[in-house]
Amino acid sequence: MSVTLDLSRVAPAIDAQKPLINLSGLTRPQMVAALTESGVVEHGKAKMRATQIFRWVHHRGVTDFAQMSDVAKETRARLADHFTIARPEVVERQVSKDGTRKWLIRMAPGVEVETVYIPSVGRVGALCVSSQVGCTLNCSFCHTGTQALVRNLTAAEIVAQVQIAKDDLGEWPSDKEDRLLSNIVFMGMGEPLYNLGQVADAIEIISDNEGITISRRRITVSTSGVVPQLEALGDKTQAMLAISLHATNDALRDVLVPLNKKYPLDQLMAGIRAYPGLSNARRVTFEYVMLKGVNDSPDEARALVKLIKGIPAKVNLIPFNPWPGTDYQCSDWAAIEAFAAILNKAGYSSPIRTPRGRDILAACGQLKSESEKVRASAMRKLSMAAMAGVLDDDEDEAAA
Ligand code: SAH
Ligand code: SF4
Repeated sequence: MSVTLDLSRVAPAIDAQKPLINLSGLTRPQMVAALTESGVVEHGKAKMRATQIFRWVHHRGVTDFAQMSDVAKETRARLADHFTIARPEVVERQVSKDGTRKWLIRMAPGVEVETVYIPSVGRVGALCVSSQVGCTLNCSFCHTGTQALVRNLTAAEIVAQVQIAKDDLGEWPSDKEDRLLSNIVFMGMGEPLYNLGQVADAIEIISDNEGITISRRRITVSTSGVVPQLEALGDKTQAMLAISLHATNDALRDVLVPLNKKYPLDQLMAGIRAYPGLSNARRVTFEYVMLKGVNDSPDEARALVKLIKGIPAKVNLIPFNPWPGTDYQCSDWAAIEAFAAILNKAGYSSPIRTPRGRDILAACGQLKSESEKVRASAMRKLSMAAMAGVLDDDEDEAAA
């Protein structure tokens, strides 16, 4: 009797050296392709299987293939040979008196990011996610800007920030009513438009109706003004746009947001006017940090009204959050209110963003010092070899 081996059913050899692909970072079409390529799932069944697995990961929030009770045991074992759905490690968790929560997440040795959950009034709450570790742009008022770029985050690492927040908030399965986590803002560390590919994949995953299901209209991407990427951001993600404006003339914006030298205000404003999908129902948010004696005069408020005329917009006035070593100060409350009044009179809604989580250094632009402290202690424990990869960054930080 002869035995034949059906080679089409033999999975490709597993390379023990290769890191496992994290399925959490794959969009559903990408997951279909990965499942087929790995040989774990037959081509004809890949779409159905991908949706099933996607639901387990992003709707139920499971972190172990063994929990996928309606997937055959043998398939689960083979999935685990090729892929992972594990979370990165939460190194530190802090809860503010006002309910703000902050997690320091270690994606890899020396690669740590902060993610902040900001509860709002009522039942909504926003998660502020990071897109990079550090930032290449040195906005003069921003603490993250004093930290050199370590690297871009992957889609899996961006999605992991949402998963970890949902773990902590007890928000699985994801279709719970009255969700605590209802909005996502890319306002953590880094410039999202310098990592658009991964940010766009992460948005596709987070907004997928089979998973976390946060609608794209509830996802806001904040940029310092990378003009050539604005159109692609709108086309790829349909996310809401926020622009870190902070100044109404090029001379001042060159100082506050040095990227302005590359893409000055006339280019930036033209790019915003052309943002796909902009309408009264989908307005752009202009962020404006209030810096005492720098950009907070009534004249500047009037210049702002003129600059954004005709654009469906709201203005978000952000009281400056000071950090150790900065020369800037936050504007007086009266100056902020006078500024807001001029905007309101011109018909712009201009909420003043109440600083949240200040006691745990979780406010905008402060996402640096805590992780540095932790990193310093982690560094001491790391082997010399592992340290080599983060040394540049730390030297930069020491000089900053
Ligand atoms: N890199 C992107 C997104 C992250 S910064 C961007 O610049 O838009 C998120 C927001 O926080 C930006 O509007 C930024 O200008 C603002 N910000 C940075 N440092 C701040 C600080 N110290 N106080 C208040 N807002 C700050
Ligand atoms: Fe980077 Fe945004 Fe900070 Fe500027 S404000 S340094 S772009 S994180």
